[in-house]
Amino acid sequence: MGHAKIEADPVEVAAKLIRRPCLSGAEGEMADAVEEFLNDLGYREVFRDRLGNLVGIIGPNAGESVRVLFDGHMDVVPPAGEWSVNPFDGIVRDGRLFGRGATDMKGGLAAALCGVVAAANDLSHPVAVSATVLEETIEGVALGEVLDRLHPDAVVICEPSGMQVKVGQRGRAEVLLTAHGVPAHAASPERGRNPITLMAQALSRIELMELPIDQTLGPAIIVATDVVSDPYPSISLIPSSVTVRFDRRTLLDEDAQGVLAELLAVVDGLDGRGFSAAITADEVETYTGERLQVERYLPAWVLPIDHPLALAMTSAVAAAGTPVELGVWGFCTNGSESAGVRGIPTIGFGPGSPEEAHIIDESISVEEVRTAAEVYRRLAIAYAGEAADDDERHDAGHRGG
Ligand SMILES: [Zn+2]
Repeated sequence: MGHAKIEADPVEVAAKLIRRPCLSGAEGEMADAVEEFLNDLGYREVFRDRLGNLVGIIGPNAGESVRVLFDGHMDVVPPAGEWSVNPFDGIVRDGRLFGRGATDMKGGLAAALCGVVAAANDLSHPVAVSATVLEETIEGVALGEVLDRLHPDAVVICEPSGMQVKVGQRGRAEVLLTAHGVPAHAASPERGRNPITLMAQALSRIELMELPIDQTLGPAIIVATDVVSDPYPSISLIPSSVTVRFDRRTLLDEDAQGVLAELLAVVDGLDGRGFSAAITADEVETYTGERLQVERYLPAWVLPIDHPLALAMTSAVAAAGTPVELGVWGFCTNGSESAGVRGIPTIGFGPGSPEEAHIIDESISVEEVRTAAEVYRRLAIAYAGEAADDDERHDAGHRGG
């Protein structure tokens, strides 16, 4: 097949990738394996950036911007629980490949590595694959580094989609709401103002909050996920404050300032010294030793279903013999950065069902992995092959933003 030096079976590639441990922030060994595959498969240009992402570019016209980037993350969550197989063996049984990351998302990444390279002979423009770090801890931040360098016209997120075409996802914000009280000895509570009582009132109001609903993405969500006093523990002492962490799933047209203002408006008027709200911000470190300050506000995105990228994807899926179904993801992906932050047309499609992600005995259908590779091959040709040049529709899509 074209420039490819070897013909690789994406299932074998996925199995080999499963054998490389790669928790978030420790993807180094996995990255070495991906780099080897990119070189062996015949990618024209292979590089590792400062964050440790691996990128392979294929197709002619070095120097021209990439027409479409296929992204998969390398990191996995820990293999918690009692497994019936070794989570890092990558064995195939009854038509399924088992192991941590089989579905989320070494299957999709392997399908992209093999499917894109299989298009090599039919490309008139560059196409790239990225294997990114730290998706499980902070979606999109690492992909941003790749986007800064490649400026692709379109992005395909290869996360498990149950072979559905995913045209969007809700965003994710981590919000801290703090109730400020007045500390006092617990034996003389009347001398203080208890922020826990205040927070209890706030929580009952928040439960009744009316959140927006989007036709495509469904309702916005707010859920409390932890609570901590200051000091913690607070013994014989009414604490000076209490903070609740919320997971807030956002829709289009929301932003960090708006989400915080809306929350403060709901608790406005409650007694006490009042409330403050913030988006969580912390530091993450890559396996290459880079430290990044990240704010946990990952925006929502939706691709119109009549967008050329959506049309090209549905054609590729149909041509690969898979029924075309459209949907949106329930979880957050690197698409938050490409589409949500940067407005790059982005679409999702990947082997494996989202319900298989992060579970005991995680596995993926080997047939789906191979079919996904074929879908990626066809999409690469549709977007960066000769036909794409004759087709004004695609040009409009590429430059559309
Ligand atoms: Zn994932």
